[in-house]
Amino acid sequence: MLSKKQQRRLIRSTYGTSAQFIRSIKRMYRNADRQIKGEISAFLADEVNWSAPAQKDDIQDAMDELRGFDDSVAPLVAFYASSLVLGHPKQSDVLTARVAVPMIRVGQSLHTMMKRNGTKIPKDVSKISKAQQVATPSLHHIPYNYDVMLQKSVSHTVTQREGIDDRINQHIHQTVTRICNVCQEASQDTDAKKNYTKVIDRILNGKNGSGGSEAQAETIMRTQTCRELNNSTIADFSARGVEQYRFLSLEAINSCQDCTELDGNVYNVEDAQEGVNLPPMHPNCQCWIEEVQDTTDDYLNGADLPINEDSD
Ligand SMILES: [Zn+2]
Repeated sequence: MLSKKQQRRLIRSTYGTSAQFIRSIKRMYRNADRQIKGEISAFLADEVNWSAPAQKDDIQDAMDELRGFDDSVAPLVAFYASSLVLGHPKQSDVLTARVAVPMIRVGQSLHTMMKRNGTKIPKDVSKISKAQQVATPSLHHIPYNYDVMLQKSVSHTVTQREGIDDRINQHIHQTVTRICNVCQEASQDTDAKKNYTKVIDRILNGKNGSGGSEAQAETIMRTQTCRELNNSTIADFSARGVEQYRFLSLEAINSCQDCTELDGNVYNVEDAQEGVNLPPMHPNCQCWIEEVQDTTDDYLNGADLPINEDSD
């Protein structure tokens, strides 16, 4: 069992990294926001017709912008590139691609952060587990094939990581679509033209920092961090033959209101299921689990031994 100090260190390290990531998400969004508004104001200033055919040079420029992204965002790149090369590209297709580029960049960084978390967190959990075995070998057993078993359990969660990759790309795509709908309206209506920056602000940054695309990206990040941490922890428990765990709702200020009722509840490791008895229970969940020590410890502490009624 991890000592309280080790638990705190692990949680601080994990959620601390997540906090760093969240700061860079904010920064990335500020940059994207600036760039997107620049693209749109240039487009509106030119007073081009939304559905007029695009110029060859403009198409080429936009295609160039779409180059240089990695595979994580390939479906997004392919989507915006296809409307520039197939059929009869319009001015609106060029603008859409140019608005998409800064958002795809945000998406690519989100993928990188998720991958980093996915590597770091299982490593941290296993490192601490091994350190604990050295400190209290009689209480903390690690089987000879621990690394293999842990790897097997954690690779199960790789499928969940693919789910998160889809989620990021969908998130970016939806944001671009919403922005471009505003652009279309602004290009066709003088009133909308006056107010478009406000509307785009709302799409990207929400109202009072919540509800916008940026806040959703933070939610994806926080929830996935919680998922990686708890999946790695449950993998450590199964690898070591731990049978039960206790649900811990952290007493942070932004702690999970819904989860406080589960705080302290004990569940079987083999029944662990995300959203039922294993965090994350909901988006932005920051809960954790701890091992329930084998009851034999109580015997060592002088508790009564159970009476086997079948024996003579
Ligand atoms: Zn929670």
